[in-house]
Amino acid sequence: MELEKTLLRKVGEAIHRFGMIREGDRVAVALSGGKDSLTLLEALLLLAKRAPVEFSVCAFTVEQGKFLRPIEPLGDYLRERGIAWTYFRDKPSLRLLEDQPDHGCDLCSRYRRRAVYEIARNLGANVIAFGHTADDFCEALLRNTLFTGKLSALPAVTHSRDREFRLIRPLVFVTEDITTAFAESLGAPIVPCGCSQRTGTVRRSLRHIFAELEQEYPHLKENILAAMGNVDTRRLLDPRYLDEEKAAAPAEEHFPIVSE
Ligand code: SF4
Repeated sequence: MELEKTLLRKVGEAIHRFGMIREGDRVAVALSGGKDSLTLLEALLLLAKRAPVEFSVCAFTVEQGKFLRPIEPLGDYLRERGIAWTYFRDKPSLRLLEDQPDHGCDLCSRYRRRAVYEIARNLGANVIAFGHTADDFCEALLRNTLFTGKLSALPAVTHSRDREFRLIRPLVFVTEDITTAFAESLGAPIVPCGCSQRTGTVRRSLRHIFAELEQEYPHLKENILAAMGNVDTRRLLDPRYLDEEKAAAPAEEHFPIVSE
């Protein structure tokens, strides 16, 4: 119960802070078969019953030929709970897998995006919810900073290119220790994707770095998330945000070279 309360508080905070869900929205949850998106689905179903705005929730899964276990138990689980779920075998993705078994993420996610929009359109949804967690946001921030020279993470809320769909990530404040424990408490079948077994070296290294640091600093991810919402552009190097006249930064008393 405590776990559910924590989950709903964090999801509710994200929805509220970023204006993710509005009156009359139909939210389609992209179920990947993993613990995060299942947790998201349950959280949104619970919130739909008690939120001050009315919205409906449905779920879908795109089959791209990469699941390691049969998907049927997930379908049975959702049916038993009366959850509207669409299972979509994406033929172009399956053909891609046959033609280029070692294709990269770029191509795969482009195929998935097209399928996701098609399904959401057929479901009459105007909002699509994805299960990216606080861990994903923190990893993305570090990955982009270290490897792409850009200070950015993931959008908590954005739109499809033609603004047909609002794309939301309500688990932005929810760490994976919460989604793991919550999915376990549901007793829901988890259907892993083949790719999750061969996590890239960068991702593995970042996860390792976080795990090591968190042994000593357990609130590390909360601090990183807080930092993402509290940007001091005067202490960064992007001239677009540097206006000396307006900024009037307080004078430095000392110039720290190395922080402890
Ligand atoms: S990790 Fe696998 S499923 Fe995910 S985008 Fe890359 S190739 Fe596709």
